[in-house]
Amino acid sequence: AKQSRAGGYHFHSPALSRKLRERRLLEQDLRQAHAQQQFRLDYQPLVYLGSGQVSGGEALLRWHRPGHGNMPPDLFIPLLEETGLIVPVGAWVLETACREAARWPARMSVAVNVSTIQFRKPGLCEAVEGALRSSGLPAHRLELEITESVLLHDTPETLATLQRLRKIGVRIAMDDFGTGYSSLSYLHHFAFDKIKIDRSFVQRMAQDPNAKAVIRAVVNISQTLGIRALAEGVENAEQAEVLRQEGCAEVQGYLFGRPMPPEQFAALHARLRRP
Ligand code: C2E
Ligand code: CA
Ligand code: CA
Ligand code: CA
Repeated sequence: AKQSRAGGYHFHSPALSRKLRERRLLEQDLRQAHAQQQFRLDYQPLVYLGSGQVSGGEALLRWHRPGHGNMPPDLFIPLLEETGLIVPVGAWVLETACREAARWPARMSVAVNVSTIQFRKPGLCEAVEGALRSSGLPAHRLELEITESVLLHDTPETLATLQRLRKIGVRIAMDDFGTGYSSLSYLHHFAFDKIKIDRSFVQRMAQDPNAKAVIRAVVNISQTLGIRALAEGVENAEQAEVLRQEGCAEVQGYLFGRPMPPEQFAALHARLRRP
């Protein structure tokens, strides 16, 4: 029970106070996680549907929380964002992903997720430049994945950041496309290199003709605009076949490979390279 306060609530329910306590603990642990090097990156293959070649890997943040095991990113990344910790952790992700990708074959790129919070804070371009410099990775092999919420605030700063990133030479992808409000013409205007069609469309494709129509339209228009299209969350051969028929050039999903540790990812593309 909380202390009395005139006009205020006097009690938290036991369930609520437990939730608050757990959240505070989680936040404390997250603050230590970075300092104590508890973060890792997994990589998930991005694959050309036609040839089966791996075009690159998406870096996905992993946290082994002592006493709790692996924590789901959808649980701790929002908290990293709320606390602002996403800025230093995001810089670490950029550094680590570029360093690990510099050892991959030159035709392969690495995709790094950039949170909207991280995008809006000053220092993103410097972090990108620093990661490229210290790793020696050529800029065109780094792809930044941002979500539609970045474009929600169509401010001069947003535009300036996108232009600076383009000048550095990195590629820019729109992640989870179709779940927000941006249009394809908008992506063309901002010179995006890639559209990642959200996995919800791929998952609904078989039962829902509308989902399939969206995928068809996005693939067609992206070809006209010269933007690459990738379909996310491909889990079975049937989905891959429909995407092939629709002319979608790139895919990602459990059918082609789950997120895996860097050593395993390196071994995977070494094997695929052989004739
Ligand atoms: P995302 O960027 O959309 O990443 C793809 C997510 O889909 C990953 O989940 C991946 O494991 C999952 N996935 C891949 N293929 C399939 C499939 O065939 N079926 C299904 N059901 N899922 C599939 P994960 O690793 O749990 O990451 C969740 C989200 O956390 C990511 O979604 C991204 O928004 C965020 N995230 C991960 N790493 C980072 C990071 O370093 N920085 C930031 N800002 N966000 C990150
Ligand atoms: Ca992503
Ligand atoms: Ca995505
Ligand atoms: Ca997502």
